Amino acid sequence: MKIGTIRGRHEMPVDRYLVDDREVSPGEDAYNAVFEAAKVHGQSLPVADTVELFYAGLTEATIGALDGYESVGINVVPMRFNVSSGGYESLSRRVNPWVVCQWSKAGEPHPTRLSDAHCKHCGAS
Ligand SMILES: [Zn+2]
Repeated sequence: MKIGTIRGRHEMPVDRYLVDDREVSPGEDAYNAVFEAAKVHGQSLPVADTVELFYAGLTEATIGALDGYESVGINVVPMRFNVSSGGYESLSRRVNPWVVCQWSKAGEPHPTRLSDAHCKHCGAS
């Protein structure tokens, strides 16, 4: 799914924007608005799903989106605009992805980091 941070700053090839119904002020307001929207959106997605995040403009909005999705175990692939090509390209990240915990009980899937021997929910062996 292609997601933009805030509508109106730059036109982006996205399915939806995290914040599209109000103006945000730079700084804490932008961070908080985008964080909350990303968290709510992430909770509506399948466990450990991945979104492509198209970002531009406010850096704090981008950080808010990363942190909001992170807080609910959703993977984010940042999509950066390449000025020379005029297109977007994905940014490879060096973090272990969120995956569905293999110790989840049936009907209770939850995310965990790929590297984790056991997740916070399921505890140590
Ligand atoms: Zn678990």
